[in-house]
Amino acid sequence: MRIVADYDRCEGHGLCAEQAPVVFDLDDEGDLVHHFEGQELPDELEAEGQRAIDSCPVAALRKA
Ligand code: SF4
Repeated sequence: MRIVADYDRCEGHGLCAEQAPVVFDLDDEGDLVHHFEGQELPDELEAEGQRAIDSCPVAALRKA
């Protein structure tokens, strides 16, 4: 699966990075970094990727 991030909607809460720290991070300015932008998540990261989607309070992450 791929995860698409809506950077305009993201408010930098960082909950996704807590759930999936290999996939998401916040940079020094608090902006979202998506390490698998435009890429398939490896199978072993799919469960935490889904948790990240579910954790986002502003629905800025979705499956593609
Ligand atoms: S949880 Fe949602 S709002 Fe927070 S950093 Fe992640 S994508 Fe952005």
